[in-house]
Amino acid sequence: MGEEMFSKDDKKFMRLAIKEQEKAYKRGDYPVAAVLVIDGKLIGIESNSLVTSKKRISHAEMNLIMKHSSAITSTKRAGKNITLYTTLEPCLMCFGTSVLHRISRIVYAYIDPDGGATNILTKNVSGYYSRTWPIIEGGLYAKESQALILKFLKKQESQGWKNVLKEHLNVKAVNKK
Ligand SMILES: [Zn+2]
Repeated sequence: MGEEMFSKDDKKFMRLAIKEQEKAYKRGDYPVAAVLVIDGKLIGIESNSLVTSKKRISHAEMNLIMKHSSAITSTKRAGKNITLYTTLEPCLMCFGTSVLHRISRIVYAYIDPDGGATNILTKNVSGYYSRTWPIIEGGLYAKESQALILKFLKKQESQGWKNVLKEHLNVKAVNKK
């Protein structure tokens, strides 16, 4: 998917996410950031804090959705556009949390070759999930996000991070699965 398919607003919100991603990088966290927008209105921005908080669930999308859970759930989805922008394709946990919160659209920057989970086929999931499945679009500012992630991973010394880096280095096209 190319960047031309995205609107001016999409670009504006993803640029905000990339700025926040840079802050996470500077803080020493795995640089991922997410922005929540309801009907065109900015609701919040959060970043991944799993390294600094030492909590494995402190992904950017989780931090964001947990913080604004009541704002999201008090929004009737019918006719509403609840968009989650994230600089990295969501993992199983964050994707599941988004579906449970009936996020209507997920826009991500860079595919995650090591932890991405948005390729699940809706024909394989049960009723609730298939009814609430979001629209998923990837590839907006993929290169910018990828550059920060690679910069972070190349600095890490543990085998765990080295394994993640290996997967990321195998990615050929950043915009496509
Ligand atoms: Zn996640």
